[in-house]
Amino acid sequence: MSIQGMGQPDKSGIGRKVTVVGGGIVGVCSANYLLRQGFEVEVIDPALPGSEDQCSFGNAGGICPGSCIPNSMPGVMKNVPKWLMDPEGPLYVRLAYLPHALPWLLRFLEASRKPRVEQISAAMRSLHRMTFECYEPLMKEAGCEELLQKRGQLFVYESADGPAGGAYSLDLRRRHGVKVEILNADEIRQLEPALSPIFKSAVYLPEQGQCPNPGRLVAKFAENAARRGATFTRARVRGFEKGPSGIAAVHLENGERRAIDQMVLSAGAWSADLARQLGDRIPFETERGYHTMIKTDTGLRIQTISADRKFVASPMEAGLRIAGNVEFSGLKPPPNMFRADALLKQARPMFNKPLEGEVTRWMGHRPGTPDSIPVIDRATRARNVIYAFGHGHQGLIGGSVTGKIVSELAAGQTPSVDLTPFRVKRF
Ligand SMILES: Cc1cc2nc3c(=O)[nH]c(=O)nc-3n(C[C@H](O)[C@H](O)[C@H](O)COP(=O)(O)OP(=O)(O)OC[C@H]3O[C@@H](n4cnc5c(N)ncnc54)[C@H](O)[C@@H]3O)c2cc1C
Repeated sequence: MSIQGMGQPDKSGIGRKVTVVGGGIVGVCSANYLLRQGFEVEVIDPALPGSEDQCSFGNAGGICPGSCIPNSMPGVMKNVPKWLMDPEGPLYVRLAYLPHALPWLLRFLEASRKPRVEQISAAMRSLHRMTFECYEPLMKEAGCEELLQKRGQLFVYESADGPAGGAYSLDLRRRHGVKVEILNADEIRQLEPALSPIFKSAVYLPEQGQCPNPGRLVAKFAENAARRGATFTRARVRGFEKGPSGIAAVHLENGERRAIDQMVLSAGAWSADLARQLGDRIPFETERGYHTMIKTDTGLRIQTISADRKFVASPMEAGLRIAGNVEFSGLKPPPNMFRADALLKQARPMFNKPLEGEVTRWMGHRPGTPDSIPVIDRATRARNVIYAFGHGHQGLIGGSVTGKIVSELAAGQTPSVDLTPFRVKRF
């Protein structure tokens, strides 16, 4: 197909302009890859790219090609009561919200069956394995190659036999070709002297990476797209106008209308409501997460996960970030910063140095499907719309690859990844 036709849709009805709704990491990666394919691009988003209104701003920064462990694993149900009973635990469901979240939670449990876990794990690996190679050209062009650090990822345990408890996860990783090293207490200290002696065993994944400032990464990608001719409109999409081959236009909250050739829906946790207007009902929840940043240098180099307490400690450009928590209470209620404070409290014993310095807290909305993998597909009834949302806990990892796939779908090319597991119809 030709996309050089200056406004003329080609034979397949695919136009040369693509409107990207939502400019978080998935949206800005899509914008950059679409520009590389020669498309004219407009990104519509009420938030400034890289700002704290986006989930992409405050995540833990993991860019991990070997990420292939679904959130819902066999035996997950065993842990849920313990997590829910602990006010500082990693999971919280607001009681009044439970009836709303229940169908999603049941699907989440359904996804923990071993045969399904095997499929999801393979799908995760197929998407994530190319994350570096899809980020690197964009980072080079945007002049921010320092935002990918290939230092590996460390899962630490407070008991000597910690990794044995995660034997199935280790098996999954190994079967997917992910390099795994088991460390004892001495080896942990040699690798990460910043960590205190409470940790007795660890799993080290040397091929993983991290981003020391995910918000700046999104901002740099947006700047790069703008430099290459993309336009950015600060507005919220509120509805769609039907056309003969999908949607003809989007309507913005400010009353404006934009004619559509092709559209990408990458509005993160806000995507499902828009997809419903397009005719697709997708089980979807915001999995609210928190972080606390401390302006301090602990000496930590490698992103470190407390496997027992389920939070992440990440060295960032601006200090140490402690991130975690999954809270089900919807898109609207204000954050409960008690959770961010609890993360910091739990992280204090992790380090040899005291955690002292200016503290900031943040809450963001993970776009969650119950099976831990995103929707990357054309909309069922609006064939000029490409869905690219639902990356849950792995949107930074999946962002670059999704952007490339989106551009391939828009250009009518065979996508780099088999999209069967990511189809909208799987639900
Ligand atoms: C505590 C925490 C830690 C995490 N750690 C990691 C990690 O280490 N590695 C990893 O890979 N992932 C991690 N994640 C997940 C990751 O941050 C997300 O999956 C990712 O940011 C989702 O990106 P997105 O572009 O889909 O959504 P967002 O970044 O939220 O962007 C969506 C955009 O859509 C816009 N939008 C919404 N509605 C509309 C509308 N109607 N019209 C136009 N625009 C609209 C929003 O304003 C927003 O800018 C973590 C998340 C949290 C909360």
